[in-house]
Amino acid sequence: MVVAGEATQRTALPADSHTHSQWSWDATRGSMEGSCVRAVELGLPAIAFTEHLDHTVRIRRSGFPAAPPAFDVSGYFESIERCRERFPGLRILTGLEIGEPHWHTEAVAKILATGGFDRVLGSLHNLPDGAGPAEPPSLYQRRGPALVVRDYLAELVRLIEGSDTFAVLAHIDYPLRYWPADALPYDVDAFEDEFRYALRTLAGTDRALEVNTRLPMPEQIVRWWREEGGTAVTFGSDAHVPSALARGFREAAAMVEAVGFRPGRQPYDFWMR
Ligand SMILES: [Zn+2]
Ligand SMILES: [Zn+2]
Repeated sequence: MVVAGEATQRTALPADSHTHSQWSWDATRGSMEGSCVRAVELGLPAIAFTEHLDHTVRIRRSGFPAAPPAFDVSGYFESIERCRERFPGLRILTGLEIGEPHWHTEAVAKILATGGFDRVLGSLHNLPDGAGPAEPPSLYQRRGPALVVRDYLAELVRLIEGSDTFAVLAHIDYPLRYWPADALPYDVDAFEDEFRYALRTLAGTDRALEVNTRLPMPEQIVRWWREEGGTAVTFGSDAHVPSALARGFREAAAMVEAVGFRPGRQPYDFWMR
């Protein structure tokens, strides 16, 4: 009975639709094979390797520019094939996490034209800033924390309206990860209007919202998503190492279900209202 119970609980885990391996420039300890081993251990039904596709040259905290290295498309697909052969019971999806797709239309189109990406995420990591685009940790040094979140959500609307290359909006709560430790704790409700506006814009384009579990996502955001017309949800750990796969998924799945979304027919389908 214990075994059966375990099995039932195991199959309840959603697919991890946002993970990185050694094919992402910032996943120096990533491993596609290692993540597959871990996914099988966890009983995950499916995993998507959504590697970074970045073109934004950002200005580091040090003031120096940092250009992201190119994505090795053929190396990535060879690695996917090897893993599919080695782990036939695991559904392995290809994917990309495209940074600021609305700023790099041509470069992004060129990669997407090579085809074969199952899960494409749209991400905002950088905001326009004085010397050039910068990430929230830098921005928080120069703008009040509430302003960083508001500016982020405003740029996110431009990203959603400016690019149709992606099917899932990743980590809408990204700036909250870096909320300054020395500021008062954030209150998500203080940004309700801005979140709702971004969510409504996304719902109008018929795309999915990712529940990113790097931070436990505030329940309000998923509720606002539903109320603003959102129909689909995915789950993403944003793991850059195998051990971080599916972290927080049980709690996140319970929260999303309580808000009113249900698993799809296949384990790799979006959860739907
Ligand atoms: Zn990201
Ligand atoms: Zn990511």
